[in-house]
Amino acid sequence: MTDEEEREALAALVMHLRRRNVAGRRVLAALEGVPRSLFLDARHRGLAYADRAAPIDCGQTVSQPTVVAMMTEALEPGEAHRVLEIGTGSGYQTAILARLVAHVFTVERYRRLSDLAAERFAVLRLANVTRSVADGHDGWAEHAPYDRIMVTAAAPAVPQALVDQLAPDGILVAPVGEQDGVQELVRCRLGPDGLIGERLADVRFVPMVPGVATRL
Ligand code: SAH
Repeated sequence: MTDEEEREALAALVMHLRRRNVAGRRVLAALEGVPRSLFLDARHRGLAYADRAAPIDCGQTVSQPTVVAMMTEALEPGEAHRVLEIGTGSGYQTAILARLVAHVFTVERYRRLSDLAAERFAVLRLANVTRSVADGHDGWAEHAPYDRIMVTAAAPAVPQALVDQLAPDGILVAPVGEQDGVQELVRCRLGPDGLIGERLADVRFVPMVPGVATRL
């Protein structure tokens, strides 16, 4: 694809998301600023501008653009926010968040995925992303609290460490459910009376796996 074809394909995808009404202007502009093809390997690049999930390294997947847009919108990202993301994966969601907030701290259990993602952040000159190879069940206490937390792997329940690292008025968005079942995308808000959750949609995510990956 030429640069121009790429821009047109991306604009068409964003137009499709606008019609589906899954996100507002600010989030759609962020999506339009991130070339999804950069996050896929050559074999799967043909899927870059389809509204479909796509395979990435280490047996993981990058979410469907509709789901990325919906989750980003649900997070209510603000310019001054510090955001924790669990599950860097390809780095696509990270890059979109980085265009919307002050800083993104992102945790991934596969070193290979984290390293590949870092190369992409460099290509896009994103200077406001800090990454770690660790088990996201523990959050990232060093930089807590976070205004927003986004989890992009499914766990049977939201890990308590993440709730503990959420700032007052903070919002956490996560897929919750069993590995083989349907999961629910939930949004939790930390109010004065504690955490209040709401269900947003049925989704399917790869599971959140304990520990740092030893393979690769
Ligand atoms: N947001 C990613 C989607 C990645 S899929 C993207 O835009 O590409 C979910 C990712 O979560 C996978 O890369 C998987 O390795 C990672 N993951 C699963 N369990 C984890 C854990 N306990 N800690 C950190 N990352 C985890």
